Amino acid sequence: MNNSDKIYTLAVAGVQRLIPYKAGKPIEELERELGLTQIIKLASNENPLGPGKKALEAIASALPELALYPDGSGFLLKQALADKYAVDDSQITLGNGSNEILELVARAFLTPEHEAVFSQHAFAVYPIVTQAVGATAVVVPALNYGHDLDAMLLAITEKTRLVFIANPNNPTGTLLSQDSLAQFIEALPDTCVCVLDEAYFEFVNDVEAINSIAWLKDHPNLLITRTFSKAYGLAGLRIGYGLSSPQMSDILNRVRQPFNNNSLALVAALAALSDDEHLQQTITVNAQGMQQLVDGFKVLGLEWVPSAGNFVLVDLKQAGLPIYEALLRKGVIVRPVGVYELPNHLRISIGTKIENQLFLKALTDSLADVR
Ligand SMILES: *Cc1c(COP(=O)(O)O)cnc(C)c1O
Repeated sequence: MNNSDKIYTLAVAGVQRLIPYKAGKPIEELERELGLTQIIKLASNENPLGPGKKALEAIASALPELALYPDGSGFLLKQALADKYAVDDSQITLGNGSNEILELVARAFLTPEHEAVFSQHAFAVYPIVTQAVGATAVVVPALNYGHDLDAMLLAITEKTRLVFIANPNNPTGTLLSQDSLAQFIEALPDTCVCVLDEAYFEFVNDVEAINSIAWLKDHPNLLITRTFSKAYGLAGLRIGYGLSSPQMSDILNRVRQPFNNNSLALVAALAALSDDEHLQQTITVNAQGMQQLVDGFKVLGLEWVPSAGNFVLVDLKQAGLPIYEALLRKGVIVRPVGVYELPNHLRISIGTKIENQLFLKALTDSLADVR
């Protein structure tokens, strides 16, 4: 060990074992590397339509106020969310992306003596926030790429303080039924907090059937997280929120930094909430794009995991990384999912019609190259 590396031995044990989160390759980086100009990125489940007009206008109007600290309570945004979901504003916690809510709940509830339960192939941030506070991650084998709720219940002990469930799940796109989730939450001991990560719920076909908010009344240990990063097209601004009991929200607010949400994010999110046209267009483009990709996979004889989100996991029946690299050389960025224990799959975010078309052509060529 050289002298500079000794610092690793001082880090919290869980941090020493962490594999850093690998984000989708930025377009600029690939441009620099390959000198390409026509690059499409279908790697991070971003909104291919971009932000809505209303959000952009709100950002422009707020620019002159940038010298001032943002409203640390996020009053207006919380009120709008409270109206939208018919909850009290004391039940809302705003985060710097919903990722921050995941971090806050881990910091508030986990210690090195505690465990967090989540599924194999679940979101990569769950192990990060768990191990960062020195707690133990308990990973339950997936069932048909999704959460095995019965097995997860069995994995819960008196040491378990958190259980993370993503619905729909990323990167697999699997969706649990509302009935099975309701039963799970009912069966959960009240010593365990359930984090229900609904980052993609706006894309669910039967979105009216999603009634998790109704469960909050009887379950002070339930925390629902949602975000403006996906359907609302504001990933770059970093804003998300938690819905919970007022008590849970009070706890999260105790560990939150006072100005965790920047002023542009606050006004943009508020405006985005009222931009139903952009949201509906986003959902329509996504549904059409999903069909387009699935049809393309059929032609190529590939299988995929049916997805309720704005991305789809395709099974290449061969190592995904060489295909990922071949796609990169053609200027198409997708997401390899080897770190999710899915070495033969790639995750493709749904793009615009043109982007999907270019991707399918590049995939066809890449499969021929690598064979
Ligand atoms: C994208 C995503 C999030 C949202 O992250 P933000 O911090 O809100 O951008 C949360 N959970 C899952 C499963 C995701 O895929």
